[in-house]
Amino acid sequence: MTNFCGLHANVHGTIRRVVHGVADELLARMKALDGLNEPHLIFGKIFAQAYDNAAFKCAADATLLGAGAELLLHAFAVAVVKGDDGLLDALVVETKSGRFAVRAATFIDCSGDGDLAHFAGVAMQPDGALLFPTLMFRVANVDAARAGEAWRTIPALMDEAEAAGDFRFPRKGAIVRPQKHAGEWRVNVTQLKNADGSAVDGTDARSLSGGEVEGRRQAIDYLAFLRQRVPGFEAAYLLEIAPQLGIRETRRLAGEYVLGADDVLGCADFADTIGVNGWPLELHVAGDVEWRWPAIPGSRGFNQLPLRMLLPRAASAEGALNLLVAGRCASMSHEGQSAARVSGACFVMGQAAGTLAALAGDAGTPLRGVAPVALQAALAADGAFLGRGDPPG
Ligand SMILES: Cc1cc2nc3c(=O)[nH]c(=O)nc-3n(C[C@H](O)[C@H](O)[C@H](O)COP(=O)(O)OP(=O)(O)OC[C@H]3O[C@@H](n4cnc5c(N)ncnc54)[C@H](O)[C@@H]3O)c2cc1C
Repeated sequence: MTNFCGLHANVHGTIRRVVHGVADELLARMKALDGLNEPHLIFGKIFAQAYDNAAFKCAADATLLGAGAELLLHAFAVAVVKGDDGLLDALVVETKSGRFAVRAATFIDCSGDGDLAHFAGVAMQPDGALLFPTLMFRVANVDAARAGEAWRTIPALMDEAEAAGDFRFPRKGAIVRPQKHAGEWRVNVTQLKNADGSAVDGTDARSLSGGEVEGRRQAIDYLAFLRQRVPGFEAAYLLEIAPQLGIRETRRLAGEYVLGADDVLGCADFADTIGVNGWPLELHVAGDVEWRWPAIPGSRGFNQLPLRMLLPRAASAEGALNLLVAGRCASMSHEGQSAARVSGACFVMGQAAGTLAALAGDAGTPLRGVAPVALQAALAADGAFLGRGDPPG
C-alpha cells in the first residue's frame, strides 16, 4: 500500500502517535533502510506516513526472523483439521513441495479474508457488505517542483477533464501523493466493480480476476490523464502496478464484541483494551470515498480496541477455541471496519494476538484462560500504548 494510516490520532487538536510496540521496531528498521517518509498531513486533520515497499518487505523479514519466527512463504492455506478436544489441530497448506499440514497450539487468522475462520466454520458477520477495492500503482519521473502540491489541484482537474468529455473516472476522492524517493508518487484512484455495479469480491476468484484486469486498464487511463492534464506529470511513467488488487473488506468475524461506528466516533473505552485506533471512518462507496471523524478538537480522537474483537463467539467456535482472528477480518461492523482496517490498528491487533498466543502457550492454558490484565501488562512491557491516559508520542 506504500502508506501507513492509523499510527496517529488527532488528540484534542494535536496530532499524536498512538500506535507503538512492534510498529516502533518495524518503522525503525524501515528508516534505517532509508525507506520511510516523514508523516504528512491529511485534510489538515491527521498524519499518514508513506514508505518504500521494498524497505517494508526487508524490514518485515528482519523483524520476524529476529524474533525467532520460522517463515513459510509460497504456501496457500486451503483447509483445517479439527481435533477431538474441541480445538483446531492443523492448517492444510498447498505449496510447491506439495500439500502438508501445519500443527500448532494456537492459530491466528491474519488472512484479511478470514479464510481460516471460514474453513473452521466459525460464525462470520452476515451482512455481506463490501467496501470497493482499488488496484494501487506508482508513477515515476514526476517533476516535483512543477507538481508542487498537486494533490490539492487534481480533484478540480479531474472535474474539468470529465466535463470536457475527455475522461471518465471510476471514483472521486483521488489520492495522489509523493513517496520517499524523488519523482515517485503513489496513485490510489481506481475502483473495481463487477458487471452489475457491485464491488469486486475478494473471496470470488472470477470477480478478483476481472477486477485486476480492469484495475490495470484504469491505471493506464489515469496515467494518460496525469500526463495530459496535471503540471509536472508530463513525462511520468508507470513505475509499478501493485502485484494484486487491493481488497479492503471481505469476511469479518462475528466475535465476542463487534467494533462499530459509534465506538470509533465516540472514542470508546474497553476494560479489555489491547491498543487503539485513531483513524476515522473511511468508506469506499460506489464512485466516492466518504469520511467521518470523531469530534475535532472536542474528542481525544482514538478508540480503544477490545481483545474480544479477536475472539470467535464461544457458541460458534466449537472445534476452534484456539483460534484468534486479527486484522481487517477481525470482529467489526462494516462501518467500524472502514476505520480500524488500516495498518495502525492491524499492528495493534496482530501484536495482541501473538502475545496472547505466547502467554497461553507459556502457561499451558487455553486462550480464554489468560486474564486480560496479564495480556495488557505484557503488551505495555513491549511498548504498546493501551489508550489509557496521554499517548507517549
Ligand atoms: C487499495 C487500498 C489502499 C489502502 N491504503 C491504505 C493506506 O494508505 N494506509 C493504510 O494504513 N491502510 C491502507 N489500506 C488498508 C490496509 O492496507 C489493509 O486493511 C491492511 O493491510 C489489512 O491488513 P491485514 O494484515 O489484515 O490483511 P492483508 O494486508 O490483506 O494481509 C493478508 C495476507 O494474508 C495472505 N493470505 C490471504 N489468504 C491466504 C491464504 N488462504 N493462505 C495464505 N495466505 C493468505 C495475503 O496474501 C496477505 O499477504 C488500503 C487498502 C487498500 C485495499
